[in-house]
Amino acid sequence: MALLEVRDLKMYYRTARGHVRAVDSVSFEIEKGKALGIAGESGCGKTSMASALLRLLPSNGEYHGGSVVMDGKELLTMAEEQFRKDIRWKRISMIFQGAMNALNPVHRVGEQIVEAILHHEDVSREEAIKRTHDLFALVGINPKRFSEYPHEFSGGMKQRAVIAMALACHPDLIIADEPTTALDVMVQAQILKAITELRQRLNLSMMLITHDLSVIAQTCDSVVIMYAGKVVEYGSVMDVYVNPAHPYAMGLVRSFPNIKAERTTVRSLPGFPPNLLAPPPGCRFHPRCPLADDECRQVEPPVREIGGNKHMVACHKAEIVQQGGDVWQR
Ligand code: SF4
Repeated sequence: MALLEVRDLKMYYRTARGHVRAVDSVSFEIEKGKALGIAGESGCGKTSMASALLRLLPSNGEYHGGSVVMDGKELLTMAEEQFRKDIRWKRISMIFQGAMNALNPVHRVGEQIVEAILHHEDVSREEAIKRTHDLFALVGINPKRFSEYPHEFSGGMKQRAVIAMALACHPDLIIADEPTTALDVMVQAQILKAITELRQRLNLSMMLITHDLSVIAQTCDSVVIMYAGKVVEYGSVMDVYVNPAHPYAMGLVRSFPNIKAERTTVRSLPGFPPNLLAPPPGCRFHPRCPLADDECRQVEPPVREIGGNKHMVACHKAEIVQQGGDVWQR
């Protein structure tokens, strides 16, 4: 059952040179208790989309259409006061990119979580302190460290504290934006394990934004691949990773090192993402695509289902991609 439905969402940045179409007709849904990964290169619109869902746009961000529905309620047209009171942090919370710096260095870590609880819920300070101790224990921090400052925490502990803060008001959905990028591999593995266990124990939904496909493989049920502000492929992790239908998704998957395969150099995608002030006509991927032809250069491919199981793709030649071996070897 869908907890959050995003339909045809468009969010552009207004600049002196025109609109940057950072999120352009994006649609997907997140089911209750499930984890959805959002992947793509830097600048493809992942973080902008997350900010748009939480209505945390910078001053030049503008909605240009679409809807975001949670439990039957439209979130984009809801009064800001109601959204702040009922949705942001209480129903949807966020672990921001660069969480290592998300804690205020001059306030005690525990107090920052207490403050978040008191700000959003009608509970006593004693109750908020007790909940913070419980949250510390839940994410694997000794509650005795409640009164320490962020500089006394290691990177992994700071990350756990930020996760505790995101859980403080019992949200239904957590948006985690690159939650482990700044951590070393060992701590990253611990944090991912903690997030997965918490999510399953609390029946939380999660939207995990990352450029790292291995993180999504470890933690998510389904995946959205974004390119140049658009969804190009969407489906279960198994379908998209094992049988990608879009050349870009196939390129991302094949650039993933495989320890069982023959030793070879890591294969990268040629070219760069387009300027979203003036994206290419037709398929936005055509300047980099080995299969591009005149149809691709002129006609934007619609998002359509391929092979059932809600595996969606936006490519005129998806069937060829799935049946024709590695399109990047051509
Ligand atoms: Fe490549 Fe054409 Fe598919 Fe775009 S529509 S990804 S250019 S084959």
